[in-house]
Amino acid sequence: MKTALITGASRGIGNAIALEFLEKGYSVIGTATTEAGAAELTKIGVNGRVLDLNNVDSIDQFWQKLEEDGEIVSLLINNAGITRDNIVLRMSDEEWSDIMNVHLNGTFQLCKRSLKMMLKSKWGRIINISSASASIGNRGQSNYAAAKAGVEAFTKSLAKEVGKRDITINAVAPGFISTDMTQNNDGVNADYLIKEIPLGRFGEPGEVANLVSFLCSEQASYITGQTIHINGGLYM
Ligand code: NAP
Repeated sequence: MKTALITGASRGIGNAIALEFLEKGYSVIGTATTEAGAAELTKIGVNGRVLDLNNVDSIDQFWQKLEEDGEIVSLLINNAGITRDNIVLRMSDEEWSDIMNVHLNGTFQLCKRSLKMMLKSKWGRIINISSASASIGNRGQSNYAAAKAGVEAFTKSLAKEVGKRDITINAVAPGFISTDMTQNNDGVNADYLIKEIPLGRFGEPGEVANLVSFLCSEQASYITGQTIHINGGLYM
């Protein structure tokens, strides 16, 4: 049974991916930032673990335990994410660096470590969750958009490095998906945003999970280095 590692599996899109992968019969390691979050994951059949991508020691400890337990990661879904929105003139160094740490450094750290296992197995699938913000830009999200654009460029470069070993790596860029991350939009803002979406609604986490699942399947074996958009037509 292949093992999938999904970061940020405790809520939202990551949780939907974890449930989808359990249903597909994978062994699933899912992360949360707290012991309580990890315990909730374990209750639903996921191997729940604590990981804070904003903390290098946490990444080291998480990975050391994974290796001690003899886990071999075949599928990696870099999904964990945060926002620290502010306009550039008011953005603190911390708001900038938190975003770079969680999205860009976190993706690099876990890709590098998982790849060593995938190269040995001569097979692997990596999906990096990006965002439509990387392509469109977004006022108040320069940090987030820059990190996600970095994730997409990283994805292409890594795809070129490891393609010959039957390892594919793609990015998935959602538009507005109904999760805690988009809950901050008040009603008026949400109505305005929905008018901009040709399908007339926010997406559901399960719809993103379906796409991720397809990209990890054998049916997607000739797709690598791509950013696949899923946004109800918001960005074309
Ligand atoms: P969410 O519901 O807010 O869930 C975020 C997940 O990331 C949680 O599992 C959270 O763990 C984890 N996390 C937060 N900080 C972390 C850290 N420092 N280290 C490790 N894990 C951390 O978010 P979501 O909407 O599902 O977003 C998932 C991904 O999709 C993100 O990369 C996001 O940027 C991207 N995305 C989302 C949307 C959208 O509309 N929702 C659109 C485009 C892209 P805890 O539960 O322990 O806090």
